[in-house]
Amino acid sequence: MKKTIQLIVILIIAVHCHGQKVDVISSKEVSRIESILASDEMRGRKAGTPDIDKAARFIADEFKKAGLQPMQGSSLLQEFMMFRPKVASIKGEIDDTDLEVQNIIVVTTQKEIKVDEKSGYEIQYILPGENLGAKARTFVRTEKNTVVFVDTSFSKNFGRLVTLKNSLFKMNNNVVFILGNFKPKSFKIKAEHTLEETRFSNVVGMLPGRSRKNEYVVFSGHYDHLGIARQPMDGDSIYNGANDDAAGTTAVIMLANYFKKLGNNERTIVFAAFTAEEIGGFGSQYFSRQLNPAQVVAMFNIEMIGTESKWGKNSAYITGFDKTNMGEILQKNLQGSVFSFYPDPYTKENLFYRSDNATLARLGVPAHTLSTSKMDSEPNYHKVTDEINTLDLNNMAEIIRAIAISSRSIISGMDTPSRVKPENLN
Ligand SMILES: [Zn+2]
Repeated sequence: MKKTIQLIVILIIAVHCHGQKVDVISSKEVSRIESILASDEMRGRKAGTPDIDKAARFIADEFKKAGLQPMQGSSLLQEFMMFRPKVASIKGEIDDTDLEVQNIIVVTTQKEIKVDEKSGYEIQYILPGENLGAKARTFVRTEKNTVVFVDTSFSKNFGRLVTLKNSLFKMNNNVVFILGNFKPKSFKIKAEHTLEETRFSNVVGMLPGRSRKNEYVVFSGHYDHLGIARQPMDGDSIYNGANDDAAGTTAVIMLANYFKKLGNNERTIVFAAFTAEEIGGFGSQYFSRQLNPAQVVAMFNIEMIGTESKWGKNSAYITGFDKTNMGEILQKNLQGSVFSFYPDPYTKENLFYRSDNATLARLGVPAHTLSTSKMDSEPNYHKVTDEINTLDLNNMAEIIRAIAISSRSIISGMDTPSRVKPENLN
């Protein structure tokens, strides 16, 4: 009898301390989800291949079971296309003189474009001494039809601008780069492309907030990985990516269940499993265009939490700690618990810029990555040996619990992290 009462008291205290029923976060659940996402059947979850669709369907089912709602439309899959235009033919002349074909690079997602001085294109220049790549990218991003004359001092590197065409979202504009120091009276450009199209899907669901519906807290992880190795290693060729980043995806699914069960979020919580992190971060880029970044009050991006951190169990680190006060808020919320979050100790690795949080951070969002990965000694990182049996599933469940607790005052609307200043980013 006494024992039972003690147990009840302990249970009440435990529930009270965590402020909630945290029982949905368990190592059993970690194991269930990880062993599906990191299984050989998922074939390494390479973005842009049919293999990854299986993982996307699984995550969407889990989100649905958890009771999440779509962010837009009726699907938890946030699908988008990426385009790679290949030149079929290209012709150009300036003041009635033909241009050499290799001196024209047209960035477009239209099959055919014809441009002349009457088309209303803005005329721009890249001048000697400017940063060719950076400047060129800004013209592609401005969404304005533009003809850009590139100074001949860039002759050697002009050809590299074709890399701007490797992976494009559907463009509303066309940008024509021409190598040469021209101030033309008249010009004509005609370009035909074939478009290679690739379909991608994020998986995104949300729990609407009780009072602050238009303020979003995002939990994210990327579910894509590296696919299948060309050279098998000890008979294994599948990049299972159990830690990178089935672990983060598992956390996102479990947090969805946790917060749904809790049912008291004042702010809207968005749960996102991103595609294509490993091949350029296109999933988070597309995601960032589907909402107003000013409405995202915090982003918890979760990467590689399957191994113990350099401080041992129950601890993790926060990348870009000094960029906002979000890290301090999380630390405050963990006070009195067994958990510790530290500033990222691997600042030379630039981890803040190496995951999906960076895309949102560049838009001002307090967006950080939480990780336990020992970047100086993770023998399975980006190897076919990144398998579930290398993970500490108990610790991983505890880290997920820690993330939940650390976010508490942000979810409730009590704390609002300071914004990232994009002008201070690299
Ligand atoms: Zn990763």
